[in-house]
Amino acid sequence: MTSDDEIFRRLRRFQTRYFPQLRRQFENLVDRGQRPTVLFIGCSDSRVVPYLLMDSGPGELFVVRNIGNFVPPFDASHGYHGTAASIEFAVLNLEVREIIVCGHSHCGAIRALYTELPPEARHMGKWLELGRDAVLPVTVSEEALRRTEQRAVALQIERLMDYPMVRRRVEAGTLYLRGWHYLIEEGKVLVLDVESGRFEPFDAADEAARANDPLGGINQLQ
Ligand SMILES: [Zn+2]
Repeated sequence: MTSDDEIFRRLRRFQTRYFPQLRRQFENLVDRGQRPTVLFIGCSDSRVVPYLLMDSGPGELFVVRNIGNFVPPFDASHGYHGTAASIEFAVLNLEVREIIVCGHSHCGAIRALYTELPPEARHMGKWLELGRDAVLPVTVSEEALRRTEQRAVALQIERLMDYPMVRRRVEAGTLYLRGWHYLIEEGKVLVLDVESGRFEPFDAADEAARANDPLGGINQLQ
């Protein structure tokens, strides 16, 4: 997707093919306003596609993306805190009920934590500090990178709890935080178990079986 031709061809396809099918939905979302219940904090990586992953469409996800899916500290200091402002907006204005921090395999930001950056990459160097505590004192390997990606997600969840409006709602049971590790090449999501601090496979087959089980269904409703 590099030439003007190609970009405009795609834009035309949206206007002529996709928008007409979604027009009513968009009009409703404009009339009634958006009410997404999920804030999705994901990496900017082009292989992470939140709407596909969450089987969702317009109005359903409030998305914040940055390199590394990092959450900056809540320090209320001066500066341009885009991610922090988006978190505040999602929690205070939209009153989302879930925040998903979604890390992923083969994350360039996490790999960059183990390499030297060009001196020109000043903002990147600063931003990557938000994942620094996840780095392992080992020789870099694919396994170490996967573990670092997971540790970084747990770190961001901890940092989210320093946002007073997040902590208050989590403690009141009106907001739920989830840490995910998305394996791009397998289409699988590993879910952070906050008790053990481990990432366990989310098994779609198990979930479907539970949904079909009458008692499981009741438990889910509770
Ligand atoms: Zn990434």
